[in-house]
Amino acid sequence: MQEGLIVKALSGFYYVRPEDGGDVVACRARGLFKKRGESPLVGDRVRFEAKDDGSGEGTVVELLPRTTELVRPPIANVDTALIVFAVARPDINRQLLDKFLALSELAGLRCVLCFTKADLLKGPDGAPNALAAEIDALRAVYERIGYPVYVTSAKSDADVGGLLREMDGRISVVAGQSGVGKSSLLNRLAPGLTLETNEISEKLGRGKHTTRHVELFRIGERGWLADTPGFSSLEFPEMEAEDLTEAFPEFAELSNGCKFRGCLHLTEPGCRVTQAVAEGEADPARYENYAAFAVEIRDRKRRY
Ligand code: GDP
Ligand code: ZN
Repeated sequence: MQEGLIVKALSGFYYVRPEDGGDVVACRARGLFKKRGESPLVGDRVRFEAKDDGSGEGTVVELLPRTTELVRPPIANVDTALIVFAVARPDINRQLLDKFLALSELAGLRCVLCFTKADLLKGPDGAPNALAAEIDALRAVYERIGYPVYVTSAKSDADVGGLLREMDGRISVVAGQSGVGKSSLLNRLAPGLTLETNEISEKLGRGKHTTRHVELFRIGERGWLADTPGFSSLEFPEMEAEDLTEAFPEFAELSNGCKFRGCLHLTEPGCRVTQAVAEGEADPARYENYAAFAVEIRDRKRRY
């Protein structure tokens, strides 16, 4: 019996990369899983048996415990969300940025932020333009919370080594709106991946990521990257509004100081979070986005 990682699932086969680095084995899952209502996912670490007839086929026998489980796309054991926004074209949508971060936090992922199209931060004379100062300020907001922030450009030889180190030895997904430069970035991080950029898919006259299966690709020496965007739904999962604080680490840290347990940090008296925002200790835009999401989740519950 060997251990391995499911790197692709397609037409009833699970493609398992053996731990010891041998060739991928095309496995069927034992009938047992279906009976138990379990279903292996890409990203699952498994025990499997390879046939010794040279066919390259085998059987998945056991799923090892999962650390995380994404639903859409279905991937197990994702560790890191690489959240990509362009500095401009399209302009950064702060609410969407905070939503990606919150959804990643709720899924138990570690978040890394990447701002692309850094070439747009320079004027014709090569000096930093007004946008550069805005991006610096934004970077400071997120770094202060504890998120690593990278600023990259496909138009220069900007170092992507830091990003590669963030993803080394982990399973990562990428999240971000269409057009922010995800494919261009990933093609530089993992040259074998050759994702279609918008330019190419427009030439071919079709959307990207149409009928795709999920597959993990090598990134760096020991990392894995899903070739599909990390969140196909931007809905919050079924949850209590008060648990949203956990998705905003800087507010979670403050909430011990709130007068009431279960404080939603909206209009409650004695709220440490709203106090911190009023006193300039916490970022007001982050708070506004938090409050909008909290109200959305609370009111959604009331309707049922
Ligand atoms: P995706 O939809 O997020 O995968 O984005 P793409 O990688 O397809 O890029 C969208 C558009 O942005 C394309 O026209 C790219 O040429 C352009 N783009 C990507 N990276 C950069 C960059 O660093 N600087 C500039 N100026 N444009 C970029
Ligand atoms: Zn509070």
